[in-house]
Amino acid sequence: APTLVWFRQDLRLADQPALVAAAGEGPVVACYILDDETPGRWAIGGAQRWWLHHSLASLAADLSARGVELILRRGRAAEQVARLADEIGAARIHALAHYEPWWQAAEKALGERLMLHDGARLADPRTILTRTGGRYRIFTPFWRALAERMPPPAPSPVPDLTGAKVSAASDRLEDWVLLPTKPDWATGFDWTPGEAGARDVLEAFMPGVGAYATARNLPSVQGSSRLSPYLHMGELSPATVWHTAAAAGPEAEPFLRELGWRDFTANLLDLIPNYADAHGRVVGDRIAWRSDAGAKREYRAWTKGRTGYPIVDAGMRQLWVTGWMHNRVRMIAASFLVKHLLIDWRRGQDWFWDTLVDADLGNNAVNWQWVAGTGVDSSPFSRIMAPLVQSAKFDAAAYIRAWVPELADVPDAAIHDPHGAGVAPAAYPRPLIGHREGRERALAAARG
Ligand code: FAD
Repeated sequence: APTLVWFRQDLRLADQPALVAAAGEGPVVACYILDDETPGRWAIGGAQRWWLHHSLASLAADLSARGVELILRRGRAAEQVARLADEIGAARIHALAHYEPWWQAAEKALGERLMLHDGARLADPRTILTRTGGRYRIFTPFWRALAERMPPPAPSPVPDLTGAKVSAASDRLEDWVLLPTKPDWATGFDWTPGEAGARDVLEAFMPGVGAYATARNLPSVQGSSRLSPYLHMGELSPATVWHTAAAAGPEAEPFLRELGWRDFTANLLDLIPNYADAHGRVVGDRIAWRSDAGAKREYRAWTKGRTGYPIVDAGMRQLWVTGWMHNRVRMIAASFLVKHLLIDWRRGQDWFWDTLVDADLGNNAVNWQWVAGTGVDSSPFSRIMAPLVQSAKFDAAAYIRAWVPELADVPDAAIHDPHGAGVAPAAYPRPLIGHREGRERALAAARG
């Protein structure tokens, strides 16, 4: 009898333990289910649908070259997977374990014929325990415990998939209309989704792994890996990234630690399934977030990169054009929304969900709550980032010039705060609020 492999956020053939297990049992049928129902408001966002389209096309081609068809179905994942397994007479379904609440619900619903394998994280976060057997809620001790468990298992090669061909009815990828049509807002998405693209990006980054600790904070240089969308979709395994980077020696440590954050956010999401919807600390519930017409206007200005803060605007425009934003700038732009504009971090999280190609429930929620100061692991709400100081400190002039063309002719010294320096061109918006004023309002709001 054939065995079913259920692909989710693990769209790869190499180091795919579910595929290895299935191939060992006989003929393999591969499926992907587009489920916009079970996740509710966390259905895949606009930018990531673009990514998904190309990634599925790439996976289908790679499977097809090995004689396996990728079956596409749409609907509630647990129902669709069970139905397909019945149709082809599969006794068993293999998949990698994932930690989003809707995936956990689907896994539970499928019951005993679903075999789950590790491989979407460096280790199963449920097994990273304190000495007394508890779970971690703070990153540093979690990372220390995870690091002790490293290295992860050596990546496994693509298994031999020859065997009797099994077919079943499949949707056509084009009919899912995952790509934008009118207008096509993805023309600036300079990415090559898929397993081969992921390998190229990893290879291109490796010579820079030693410089990562400092370069990662500088938006004007490409100092980080840009692997986030590939890791979210699982187009390469975290174990592959770990082994490739660790081969560089101890200088890879800061990068590996950052990779560990992915495992930590899965750990928190597994512990607190509604982490993207509710505050981790009561301070969040005390704050009267602004939501009047003025706040709505300012929110729109933030999404469009028209806040009058060049570093924030550059980031928000980079996000819109490319589907990705530099990490340091994500922190500054998020902090500005939450603290200076006093707008609920969940509104910012929503925007990121729809516009990031790497949108990931755990990574997005944990980082937003971290910046907002409402998370179980974050500094107090009263720690407020100074966007103009950050912009100068991390040398963002070239980055701003690249994304905010109105400021192209402003000299470096004035580009972080062109209004303050009296050199802002008329086309560039005035700051929505002054830094001191925004800061004081936020502090007052936190006092309640
Ligand atoms: P690198 O610096 O090269 O890091 C390597 C990998 O480690 C990343 O690809 C990512 O998988 C992981 N990683 C690095 N930093 C973090 C982190 N702080 N938290 C979790 N994982 C991390 N990342 C997402 O993948 N999806 C999101 O939806 C997301 N939302 C964010 C929202 C806010 C407000 C902030 C401040 C950060 C968010 N991040 C998110 C984390 C981080 O900004 C990105 O992972 C990183 O910028 C991706 O670029 P990179 O691949 O070059 O990262």
